[in-house]
Amino acid sequence: MDEANISQSFRRITAPLPQSPGIEDPLPTYLTYFVDSRFTTSQRNRIHRLAIGIFFQLDRYHLDRDIGVDSPLKQCTAKYARFNLAPVWFVDKVANGNVAVDVMMNGLTRAFAANGFGRAFRAFITHPGTTTPPMAIRGTNASDPDRSSLSVTINPRTLSRIDLDDSTLTGSLLHSWMHRLGYRHASGRYNSYLIAEAAMCLMRGNNKKQPGVPEADIPNS
Ligand SMILES: [Zn+2]
Repeated sequence: MDEANISQSFRRITAPLPQSPGIEDPLPTYLTYFVDSRFTTSQRNRIHRLAIGIFFQLDRYHLDRDIGVDSPLKQCTAKYARFNLAPVWFVDKVANGNVAVDVMMNGLTRAFAANGFGRAFRAFITHPGTTTPPMAIRGTNASDPDRSSLSVTINPRTLSRIDLDDSTLTGSLLHSWMHRLGYRHASGRYNSYLIAEAAMCLMRGNNKKQPGVPEADIPNS
């Protein structure tokens, strides 16, 4: 076997980060991640749109906060999140969903800065290959936004599903990145957990839950 067959190759991608107002330390120009070459071009393009979708939510949060307003994602998440409001490394008590979203957005901002400035480990977007794929996107548990990578594994079949819109998959990516930031849920339980409710809000376009409409199951990782 030659070496090319044993070491999987990755393509380096840079995604422009928003320069939002009100961030203490300005964000770097780009988030950098490495995409497994086994993904197709269209799959790679979709991964890019999902990352940009999260940047958009973060930017909207900062823009709204700057004028004293809660962003749609913050309003939605604060309404439904009750459990595990703080990441595992957070020592203070988080009083409510509103504070929880502020801590979450601060964690995301720190993680993006750590990535872009090269303080964190490299972010690899991995294809499952012959291993069992996640339902959509899986991020293993990590707990240091200033050092942990934003690496995730993505199911290529799910990524190519045209019946799932970008918002749905962006929610799944947020869920996976929140695992990397130190957020957890109880095994197999999602309802009312911050890490899942934030993702499900994105999937619903930050709209309220509708009676009779089942919860999204796609963030389940
Ligand atoms: Zn999960």
